[in-house]
Amino acid sequence: MEHRRLTGRVVIATHNPGKLKEMQDLLAPYGIEAVSAGELGLPEPEETGTTFSANALIKAQAAANAAQMPAFADDSGLCVDALGGQPGIYSARWGGPEKDFQMAMENVQALLITVDALSAEKRKAKFVSVLCLAWPDGHVEEFEGTVAGTLVWPPRGTKGFGYDPMFVPEGFTRSFGEMSAEEKHAMPPLGRGLSHRARAFRLLSAACLEAQGQKAHGQAAEGQEA
Ligand code: IMP
Repeated sequence: MEHRRLTGRVVIATHNPGKLKEMQDLLAPYGIEAVSAGELGLPEPEETGTTFSANALIKAQAAANAAQMPAFADDSGLCVDALGGQPGIYSARWGGPEKDFQMAMENVQALLITVDALSAEKRKAKFVSVLCLAWPDGHVEEFEGTVAGTLVWPPRGTKGFGYDPMFVPEGFTRSFGEMSAEEKHAMPPLGRGLSHRARAFRLLSAACLEAQGQKAHGQAAEGQEA
């Protein structure tokens, strides 16, 4: 199937300020006007899917239909090897109604202790992001990005959001919680396109944005910390 180009305005179908900021930053070089679902007063649909992909589709299609313009949604989460991929699609829910991710990280750590996952080799995890771009006429584009890493304890740093302070991406010594927004998700030359969302976005931009002749992002860097 041919990819469809995105032009004009797009809704970012998230009520998560951390994700909204990342998506706005990623879209900025393409001159696309991004409005959030919150600004438009769109309701948050129930995430009834059992995969990242299904939930991203639910969110993007709901926003595209309600706003009658293209909509982006990301469904993402932390998958911990020693916990059989948990919290996975339930990553947000582990924060509870208060979205308390200090508590969620403590739960992850407590479970890791119960399975004796104390050494770095037993604490492998990945962040996954599925990015869905949906149009009101039903056309859908989907892209997935992942970033592998190790979970540390205690959490480090106060930047980012969610599980960032306990996640050290492969090839680095600092956690996402210790990295600036540019380091975590900006594309070259500003950053390395490191985050799972940035990696999914790079695929999306190559398929749906670059053909507009606007400024393209550079190559992904998987490299070591400077
Ligand atoms: P969603 O809104 O259902 O996709 O929830 C994703 C959840 O996964 C977020 O609330 C965070 O807890 C977690 N998550 C996703 N991406 C990141 C990230 O980049 N850093 C830290 N936590 C993340």
